[in-house]
Amino acid sequence: KLVVLGSVNADHVLQVPSFPRPGETLHGRNYQVIPGGKGANQAVAAARLNADTGFIACVGDDAFGINIREHFKMDGINIASVKMQPNCPTGIAMIQVADSGENSICISAEANATLTAEAIEADLEAIRQADYLLMQLETPMCGIEKAAQTAKAAGTTVILNPAPARELPDTLLNHVDIITPNETEAEVLTGITIDSDEAAQQAANVLHGKGIHTVMITLGAKGVWLSQGGEGKVIPGFRVEATDTTAAGDTFNGAFVTGLLEEMPLESAIKFAHAAAAISVTRFGAQTSIPRREEVEAFLAQ
Ligand code: ADP
Repeated sequence: KLVVLGSVNADHVLQVPSFPRPGETLHGRNYQVIPGGKGANQAVAAARLNADTGFIACVGDDAFGINIREHFKMDGINIASVKMQPNCPTGIAMIQVADSGENSICISAEANATLTAEAIEADLEAIRQADYLLMQLETPMCGIEKAAQTAKAAGTTVILNPAPARELPDTLLNHVDIITPNETEAEVLTGITIDSDEAAQQAANVLHGKGIHTVMITLGAKGVWLSQGGEGKVIPGFRVEATDTTAAGDTFNGAFVTGLLEEMPLESAIKFAHAAAAISVTRFGAQTSIPRREEVEAFLAQ
């Protein structure tokens, strides 16, 4: 069983000709509200790929919060621990996508800010019962640390996707078994710029030094640097025509843990995750881009 702890966001996406300057009003187009949030994306990815997935999260009591719980359920997620906060909006991301392809994003935690250590008291048993706990960094650190400590003490494997980038205390890193930073996040965590295989291994070694046995630095289209101590290596990704890389990392993480739950060898789980993430980058949006199991199997059979 998998438990994901993390954020839920409503992504308000608007296509703009260019980014408006202070005081300027521009006409955008194609307004869409797309389900996102790193925690939700990762839970949805795992559930669509048939992992037995529970989700610990907080949504608001607005229309989005009410609807998204139903969508999580339809995707097969156990929503017993998706709490609805009264008088509180669901977390949001305001995203402008310019015609140049660049984006500009402002997020606000809202209900996600209430997922504290206290708020997850009733969910700790589910964490103890799980085989894997998967987390990111869009919810309060006290809740993340509490969950990690609880998991570690119960023998639940802790996987941390340390996104968005920030420095982390050893008190958290010491409870992590597997970490999956992208290049930026690895640099913020270790102070080492990931510009070569040697640098990737140095950064991995810093993280091994914190007690993390498996380090996977995702390298975008190039794949992932895998290190379990000693000499690491690149596990290459798949070549696809990328249209929108939103949620690529989330799809990768959800798919990777699904592979582990099925007791795939580590490198097979990474390949499976590369395939799922590659499909996601060919599609627009966050949860709208996450594939189902049949699609990943068809992709891998090509
Ligand atoms: P993040 O989205 O968190 O920044 P990365 O950009 O490193 O993370 O991507 C995570 C994973 O998504 C990669 O390891 C790879 O499997 C897949 N991926 C990302 N971008 C591409 C791409 N352009 N083509 C194919 N796969 C991609």
